[in-house]
Amino acid sequence: MSLIELDQIEKRYTLGDVDVPVLRGVTLKIDQGEFVALVGTSGSGKSTLMNILGCLDTATSGKYLFEGSNVNDLNSNQRAELRNSKIGFVFQSFQLLPRTSALQNVTMPLAYRNPPLSDAAEKDKARDLLTLVGLGDRLDHFPSQLSGGQQQRVAIARALVNDPQILFADEPTGNLDSKTTQDILGMLESLNQKKGLTVILVTHDNEVAKNAKRVIRIKDGQIVEGL
Ligand code: ADP
Ligand code: MG
Repeated sequence: MSLIELDQIEKRYTLGDVDVPVLRGVTLKIDQGEFVALVGTSGSGKSTLMNILGCLDTATSGKYLFEGSNVNDLNSNQRAELRNSKIGFVFQSFQLLPRTSALQNVTMPLAYRNPPLSDAAEKDKARDLLTLVGLGDRLDHFPSQLSGGQQQRVAIARALVNDPQILFADEPTGNLDSKTTQDILGMLESLNQKKGLTVILVTHDNEVAKNAKRVIRIKDGQIVEGL
């Protein structure tokens, strides 16, 4: 069984009375433990596809199986539950809470955990993950006191705090210089290799995409390479 299976996924937006097709029949499978780059030019539909895969949005039509279960059958609460327990996200703009320490940024998603962890267990978990991403000595720093690369490391630690099956990273290096880009890509690669985490790296940049083990190319809402 694949971790993710899409069959003829379509996404359309209606703008006034104009129908805008964005995903036009996407069929693909992604297995547990893969490191995939989803690559395509700006506007090709990458983020739209990632949002559907990550259960942040729903398709207009088509079938989506996650671990063999039909995501179309879930209501919005059940989708949120799936997202919180199995899926981690990293974005281009880091999206950390500003006046909040690195440690507290990482513990934040644990607030939705049921049953909850103790305060001490939450802190231990966040500390371990910040140490894993090389920020064990920056626990009490605010985002404004961290470089872009360090902020993205905090965001990666936060994305991992609920032990997800899969990590989605949407243009995670888009705001970083080339050296820091390599650091962050190396970190994603090592999470994939050493922890067996499934990683989907979304990027418009072919050089960045080369870091993945499999490249899926999307053009005008259709997969044109990597099936
Ligand atoms: P990418 O991430 O590859 O740059 P997106 O998935 O963000 O592309 O967008 C793909 C296309 O869908 C673009 O043409 C964009 O304008 C359109 N689009 C995205 N979101 C919406 C929306 N909410 N309403 C209408 N059109 C949208
Ligand atoms: Mg995008």
